[in-house]
Amino acid sequence: MRYLGCHLSASNGNLAMVKTAESIGANTFAFFTRNPRGSRAKKEDPADCGAAVAALKEKNFGKLVAHGAYTMNLCTADAEARDFACQVLCDDLRRMAALPGQYYNFHPGSHVGQGVEAGIEFIAAALKKALEPGYPVTVLLETMAGKGSEIGGRFEELKAIIDAVGSDNVGVCLDTCHVYDAGYDIVQDLNGVLAEFDRVVGLDRLCALHLNDSKNPFASHKDRHECIGRGSLGLEIFRAIVNHPSLAGKPMILETPNELPGYKQEIELLRGL
Ligand code: FE
Ligand code: FE
Ligand code: ZN
Repeated sequence: MRYLGCHLSASNGNLAMVKTAESIGANTFAFFTRNPRGSRAKKEDPADCGAAVAALKEKNFGKLVAHGAYTMNLCTADAEARDFACQVLCDDLRRMAALPGQYYNFHPGSHVGQGVEAGIEFIAAALKKALEPGYPVTVLLETMAGKGSEIGGRFEELKAIIDAVGSDNVGVCLDTCHVYDAGYDIVQDLNGVLAEFDRVVGLDRLCALHLNDSKNPFASHKDRHECIGRGSLGLEIFRAIVNHPSLAGKPMILETPNELPGYKQEIELLRGL
């Protein structure tokens, strides 16, 4: 089964997102759990969550890939700010329990000069704390472009976090724009990059993908998304990805610069490859 979807606005609730997704040919989707550039979260609505869970099941959707706020930096230098980020993570995972079994993806964080090792320790400590109550959610570390002091641009860094947390409920979401910008050449050698991922992290930890083309050349460490087929990745790599046996059945989420009609077109394009 091909599970394709895109990032949707959560402002009208979960059931509304299921309906919107269906109207554009999607059978999974992503959404921000709270204001992506702030930290405010919406009021919880158990009835809406219940209706969405039933609709997802009835329509045979793949797993959803919720996205944490960009501002949540679990390895920032200030202890109080780090503590606040950890509280945000804990609250997000608690809220996700109303949509059991879905994925929660987030950017591991930026170590802001403290060093990769210290950053990894802070991220792992926060994850351990947030996963401790045993909520029915799998947390996904997103592969990053390696911009500034971002952690997660190397597969080894993701593996180190996973090992330090020591939970089965931690996986990876592979962002095609980010890995290419980070210096993994999926265009020339997708199988080689997947083999490298398998060697370092293990393909069993690869749970979801973000499908984005890139506005920048290979290994630019920039992170600017482009529409599918219009950037430095090109259309053919997406044909290889959506048909790859190792990636079959994983939710694939578009985060391209589009509104709904553009997403609908890209989902059609990908379904036709
Ligand atoms: Fe992201
Ligand atoms: Fe992404
Ligand atoms: Zn990005």
